[in-house]
Amino acid sequence: MAESLPARTSEAASHATIGRSGSPRAASVSDPLPMADADIASVRLWMREHFDHPLWREISEACLGCGACAYVCPSCHCFDMVDEGDWRRGNRVRNWDSCQFAHFTAHASGHNPRPQQWNRYRQRIYHKFQYYPDKFGRLLCTGCGRCIDSCPAGMDLVEVLQTLAAVSAADRGAVMAAGTGEAGASRRPGSGSRRDRLGLSP
Ligand code: SF4
Ligand code: SF4
Repeated sequence: MAESLPARTSEAASHATIGRSGSPRAASVSDPLPMADADIASVRLWMREHFDHPLWREISEACLGCGACAYVCPSCHCFDMVDEGDWRRGNRVRNWDSCQFAHFTAHASGHNPRPQQWNRYRQRIYHKFQYYPDKFGRLLCTGCGRCIDSCPAGMDLVEVLQTLAAVSAADRGAVMAAGTGEAGASRRPGSGSRRDRLGLSP
């Protein structure tokens, strides 16, 4: 779990061609991951105000809900508790789980607060880039790229972050053009400390 998205590790570098484009992502282990270029502060800024934005449906469209991204992710840690056994003997078992599964948030009543896959994919992005950093001051993503390698649907976290950053930048540009962008401009990434640039400073 990193404050920034670091240089590619040797293990991650073995996954040389990832993503929808199929283009090589890093030539050597010392090359930074493409994700390191993602403007995370912009993404976080936008996410804060756009939980219900229709873009979430759009970027999640291909997601199958298979959970592969969570199972290969070094920072995913969601689990479920299950009681197994009979009246004589039993075990309480902790099972690895994933927020990408439809039953993960299913209530006993039958209600599911994340009934559709786009709700669940949005949760994955919010957990890693909004909720966890807000609480603990670090991103819940190492930038390893394993989720991209493993996704059978070609979902590419780098592309998602870049899309959100671009939309955020466009929104800020529109606000500034309207002459009311002073507050947004003062939080513009690229200035201040590294934590400021990642939108992690309180
Ligand atoms: S993003 Fe890809 S790997 Fe993750 S649940 Fe969706 S289809 Fe599966
Ligand atoms: S790049 Fe994907 S697999 Fe790696 S830590 Fe981030 S979300 Fe998890």
